[in-house]
Amino acid sequence: MGKVTGFMEYERLKEASEAPPSRMKHYKEFVLHLGDAEAKVQGARCMDCGIPFCNNGCPVNNIIPDWNDLVYRGDYKEALDTLHSTNNFPEFTGRICPAPCEAACTLGINSDAVGIKSIEHFIIDKGWENGWVTPQPAAVKTGKKVAVVGSGPAGLAAAQQLARAGHDVTVFEKNDRVGGLLRYGIPDFKMEKSHIDLRVEQMQAEGVVFRTSTLVGKDFPANITNWSKETVSPDDLKKDFDAVVIAGGAELPRDLPVPGRELKGVHFAMEFLPLQNKVNAGDKLKGQIMATDKHVVVIGGGDTGSDCVGTSNRHGAASVAQFELMPQPPETENKPMVWPYWPTKLRTSSSHEEGCDRDWAVATKRLEGKNGKVEKLIAARVEWKDGKMQEVPNSEFEMKADLVLLAMGFVSPVQQVLESFGVDKDQRGNAKATTDGEGCYKTSVDKVFAAGDMRRGQSLVVWAIREGRQCARAVDEFLMGSSVLPR
Ligand SMILES: Cc1cc2nc3c(=O)[nH]c(=O)nc-3n(C[C@H](O)[C@H](O)[C@H](O)COP(=O)(O)OP(=O)(O)OC[C@H]3O[C@@H](n4cnc5c(N)ncnc54)[C@H](O)[C@@H]3O)c2cc1C
Ligand code: SF4
Repeated sequence: MGKVTGFMEYERLKEASEAPPSRMKHYKEFVLHLGDAEAKVQGARCMDCGIPFCNNGCPVNNIIPDWNDLVYRGDYKEALDTLHSTNNFPEFTGRICPAPCEAACTLGINSDAVGIKSIEHFIIDKGWENGWVTPQPAAVKTGKKVAVVGSGPAGLAAAQQLARAGHDVTVFEKNDRVGGLLRYGIPDFKMEKSHIDLRVEQMQAEGVVFRTSTLVGKDFPANITNWSKETVSPDDLKKDFDAVVIAGGAELPRDLPVPGRELKGVHFAMEFLPLQNKVNAGDKLKGQIMATDKHVVVIGGGDTGSDCVGTSNRHGAASVAQFELMPQPPETENKPMVWPYWPTKLRTSSSHEEGCDRDWAVATKRLEGKNGKVEKLIAARVEWKDGKMQEVPNSEFEMKADLVLLAMGFVSPVQQVLESFGVDKDQRGNAKATTDGEGCYKTSVDKVFAAGDMRRGQSLVVWAIREGRQCARAVDEFLMGSSVLPR
């Protein structure tokens, strides 16, 4: 611990960002990482607690107090190595992680938590800027072949770890670019896609082969992103590879079964968001779903909904509203009650700051329109009693809606993918595999392993990275009898 009294002397600093009116004119990132002097002060705020709850609150168990101290001392290279020892892709998490580590930070009990995420962002950007992030090819090859299905954060983490353990890894991805939801889903203004491209280059230099536009299996629902040009059968993968990791995400969206759902202008969020990612990547698209001059209603109050808000505002929507079924959470949490766990509290994203009418405890009853096109949404207020939802009498209201975006979460992985491999499913329709003990991450099918949202259901990037890393170790153990990969 560098500065014993740092936590008493210095305040938490928010990263600088471009103001809404100017950032809404483009799709680029608008949050700037800390400068050297600022990062030093933020690192100095860490108390290096005897039991660092941040380390436990972080799903990849980042060794946070160590790199806080290293940043305070200006040893950025060592900080980067420490950060990389637990996290393959800190440039992703340093930008888009909700930071459960900060919710667990001991300083947060009676003060502002250490700005852990901003320090992570600083370290990894420093690493790339200085050319310290280089390929780490395996010194010895094992001759074993591993297929990874899906190139989201889980598949990428698994592939990188397995390649570094000396295996020949091929990643199969049905979309035309690598990255999963990082590429097609999360808007560029939250995370520019060059960060994925740099990692792909690094992984290729480490020996990973990427086969994009390749669907594993053959049947796939029409309304889920799929830019495949060829297919590969799961049986061939099982035959041609020594192990297969399925990391295909949880792509099946929750639908809204109300009258009018079939009207034109009602879309799943994931029919809307990836198209803007594609346009930002330079693709020419016909028939992009646009919010320009439209009254947009986003149904669902989470991250995906917030991304729809930010994108709609950048399109130049006439108005943007966002409804959530659950009641409005409190502005601040009762820290002693919830620490060190993730608190339920009102979260206002940068997209909300850009303009949006948010409303809670609202249920959509039906959608109406003319000539097959949606024009309005009819909703009612609801209240929750004894865990049951009830409509508030005479609370029905209607509002203009030319574009309705459904962002109510994801039910499960696409079932056809799991069925094509013949793996057992859990009660929620995810690939069934444990995360601890012997046989962890292994599915019911010989040599097939599962990780990320495909195993745990809809989650976070940081959990996907954890699962990819842990799954890689399980695969390495399966192939070699033991593994030196970290869990
Ligand atoms: C709009 C949106 C915003 C989000 N924002 C955040 C955020 O800010 N922070 C955060 O931490 N989390 C966020 N999440 C959640 C996060 O993106 C996911 O939890 C994470 O990406 C899951 O990683 P994964 O690797 O398991 O799966 P995915 O990222 O879903 O990747 C799975 C990949 O597998 C491919 N695939 C599937 N089936 C096949 C097949 N049969 N053949 C070939 N390829 C296949 C898919 O095309 C996809 O590329 C967001 C999610 C969404 C939808
Ligand atoms: S919990 Fe907070 S103060 Fe304690 S070691 Fe972690 S970051 Fe530092």
